Amino acid sequence: MPALANASPPAYNAGMGSDSAAELDAWLRNGGLVVTASDRAARAIAAAYHHARRAEGLTAWQAPQVLDWQRFLRTAWDEQTTDGRLLLNSFQEQSLWAGIVADSGHSAVLLEGPRDRLAALAMEAHRLLCLYSPKFLARSSRASWQQDAAAFSQWLVAFDEICRNGNLLSMSRLPLELNPVLQSGQAERPPLLLAGFDRLLPMQRSIFDAWGHWQEMAAGEPAGTIRSYSAADTKDELAACAHWCRSWVAANPRARLLIVTQDVTLRRGELERAFLKHANGDRAAPFEFSLGIPLIQTALARSAQLLLRWLAGPLEEHELDWLFSTESATANSQEAFALQAMMRAVRRRGLERTQWTLRAFTQQPVSGQLPAGWVQRMLSAQRHLETSAQLQRSPLDWAALVSELLETLGWPGRIMSSAEFQIERRWQQVVETCGSLGFDGRRVAWADFLSDLTRGLGETLFAPESEDAAILIAGPSESAGLTADAIWFLGADEDSWPARGSMHPLLPFDVQREAEMPHAAPQFDWELANAITRRLLASAHEVHFSFARQKDGVDTRPSRLVAHYAGSPQELPSDLVPPVSQHPLAVPFADSSRICFNAISEVESETGSTNGAEARTPNHVVRGGSTVLTSQSQCPFKAFATARLGAQWWEPAEVGLSASLRGQLLHAVLHSVWGGPPDGIRTQDQLNALPDLRAFVAKHARRTIAEKIPAAAHEQMPQRYLELEEQRLTRLVSEWLDFETTRLPFTVAATEVDASPTVVGLTLKLRLDRVDRVNDGSLIVIDYKTGDVSPKSWELPRPDDVQLPLYAGFAISDAELGGLLFAKVRPGELCFTGRVGDAASTLFSDLGRSSALVKNPLTAEQLIDWREHIEQLARDFLAGRAEVDPREYPTTCKRCGLHTLCRIQESAPGTSDDEESAESGQ
Ligand code: SF4
Repeated sequence: MPALANASPPAYNAGMGSDSAAELDAWLRNGGLVVTASDRAARAIAAAYHHARRAEGLTAWQAPQVLDWQRFLRTAWDEQTTDGRLLLNSFQEQSLWAGIVADSGHSAVLLEGPRDRLAALAMEAHRLLCLYSPKFLARSSRASWQQDAAAFSQWLVAFDEICRNGNLLSMSRLPLELNPVLQSGQAERPPLLLAGFDRLLPMQRSIFDAWGHWQEMAAGEPAGTIRSYSAADTKDELAACAHWCRSWVAANPRARLLIVTQDVTLRRGELERAFLKHANGDRAAPFEFSLGIPLIQTALARSAQLLLRWLAGPLEEHELDWLFSTESATANSQEAFALQAMMRAVRRRGLERTQWTLRAFTQQPVSGQLPAGWVQRMLSAQRHLETSAQLQRSPLDWAALVSELLETLGWPGRIMSSAEFQIERRWQQVVETCGSLGFDGRRVAWADFLSDLTRGLGETLFAPESEDAAILIAGPSESAGLTADAIWFLGADEDSWPARGSMHPLLPFDVQREAEMPHAAPQFDWELANAITRRLLASAHEVHFSFARQKDGVDTRPSRLVAHYAGSPQELPSDLVPPVSQHPLAVPFADSSRICFNAISEVESETGSTNGAEARTPNHVVRGGSTVLTSQSQCPFKAFATARLGAQWWEPAEVGLSASLRGQLLHAVLHSVWGGPPDGIRTQDQLNALPDLRAFVAKHARRTIAEKIPAAAHEQMPQRYLELEEQRLTRLVSEWLDFETTRLPFTVAATEVDASPTVVGLTLKLRLDRVDRVNDGSLIVIDYKTGDVSPKSWELPRPDDVQLPLYAGFAISDAELGGLLFAKVRPGELCFTGRVGDAASTLFSDLGRSSALVKNPLTAEQLIDWREHIEQLARDFLAGRAEVDPREYPTTCKRCGLHTLCRIQESAPGTSDDEESAESGQ
């Protein structure tokens, strides 16, 4: 296979050395004009022409005349007429259709999104009529159209009228207008060579006839090698294709390969992963896509759009996180770091919001940490916009303002790469295109202009300039006019090839069938697919087809069309099955080094810890309290990352109270209730003596909500919502206190108890929810929980939670300790669970022998085992033991949130590509 490529020169028709390549080159040299079906083909042919001249040793030569169909029409129109009408760009035309659709009062157009989609459909229907069946452009010929087609017919009347009155010309009408001009013109025109047209429509044929001399490029020789394969599934199919490319490029780096597949945009991530995975050694064979990605998906354009949006409205908190991480919103990396630190501080203080306006962001309690220069630029741009946005303006004015605002903001704020310069240029083009909406003298509000800009960024594709990569990935239609050394056609199954589609919903079906519009009949799809298949077979010396027998869990059959040319598909041969041991993307590395905690001269103390608990050594402070050792038990790396590197996982902000804030409120109400006189109580007798338990609890709940919910949260939540939360707390705590009246007598010795036990040199600051003294004089330590908890989490050898065992072993004497309990304060599930020395005598008198509290008492042996284990955990932490070793994969990791730091997905056993896909959102 690669032997063919060894003799191949590069460039268009790369390596084929075919008659068609020579024909093209000769045609262009002689000053002929080449018209291609696609922009990509035009660029490839021009690039190949330049390449050939350079190969001849020339330093200067005349530019070749290569135009794609659309540019050919525009150029011809400009050259052949002095018509004063404005040729609408697609954005301008769609805005006209959107206006017409909106004025029609159609039920689907109340919202902007559906209106734009309907406008796009109407524009496409108009294009199809112009291209396939111009006779229906006459209003009288559409008199019998019904329902949606009749509505479209009315819109078309309005569109024609607007164009007539405004001296405007749709690009779709251009061929129809150009035809008579060409026919009547006398000018000498260069001969045309057509490249890459899978089928010529009658209208196109008549344009070329009117032009003068034209001919289609001769088809290349049919491929000498044609193969068809069947793979077990799409993963194997892609792997074989990537492996095949790798072998080709390894044998001949100058080879040019074309990969053809349906749905390139949807499959982009999957294809990229496959080609990277089956790379040649450390390097993947260079590949590129014929189609770009929406401009809004590039970091630079998205950052500009977010900045502009933020000047006039709120951004989601996750959008701010993203914006500050790109460094496109700041003048330098110091500003970006400061803003990222600010977001951390906001969350640590519990001030997170789902949305932030710029004003709220710059006026929040921790705004003193904001970089002054950044604040000054943002507010200055906002003032500028506010002054301008008081009036409706022409889109042209808004487009000019966009540049001014971005300049004030300092966007993009950093040195750009070559690709980013190209993105910036494309951004400017889109802004100018949006400005061109002022062609009809309209005036719009800033919000409308911004909405148009966002749509434009979504509809504009961006692909970096081609670097002439060895592998080009294209859709069947986009591959028109491209040739290569070898071609691989993926997804050649019966459902996908010929490609199927639906008929246009705004045109009568009989009209579409009569005009042979795309998808109007299976026969038309077959004929088009047949033409593309034949063209591909003549575009390389070697052509491979493949299909997956299973796709999305469903059995598939091979394409009958492909079988017609390539025969029945064969099982993938062994040389196309990648060896099992590929070079892994991530190379596991056993890091046995340990950096002792005591070896660090200074560990910065983080302020604002949410639970107020800390772990101390004589000279150092780390965050976390007992959670340091809990983390060490769950996964040593987790303890290292959180306590020593300061890594944290943030929960996204919620519109109402978050689950964690609700849990804190419950703790606070119970602390307030059991806080003792003058407002609280301390004993079960006092609890029993309360005349109105609910009113008593309601008073504590009200005060707690007023004191504990941050002022910023108060602003965002309706009063009624907070009242409902108060009612919920009152009901839950009342039910819990009712439950506590069934206990044997007790006294609350303390709530929110601070303790500082030292474990093998590590001093830990702990805070316990509550300690009760029970009827035998012993102490029972109680931890309130609203989630699903069980004393199983204390079980050795790797406990999931060491807080209470830690307290039992190091903060209280064995003689005094009576038990450790989780108090499960959960609606409908109120209970105590844990280990108590003698639960039937000290907790509930009615406990049966089968009760877990009776069956599993707290024992002296258990306390010794816990103590030894906790000491070992502390020693491991101090010694710097930091292996990525989750206690129970993947359960432990699901609650951790440090996946991106420890990269467990890349090393955990059983991690499949499917899981990777799910993680990456593909
Ligand atoms: S995600 Fe899992 S492996 Fe990674 S640090 Fe957390 S617990 Fe450890």
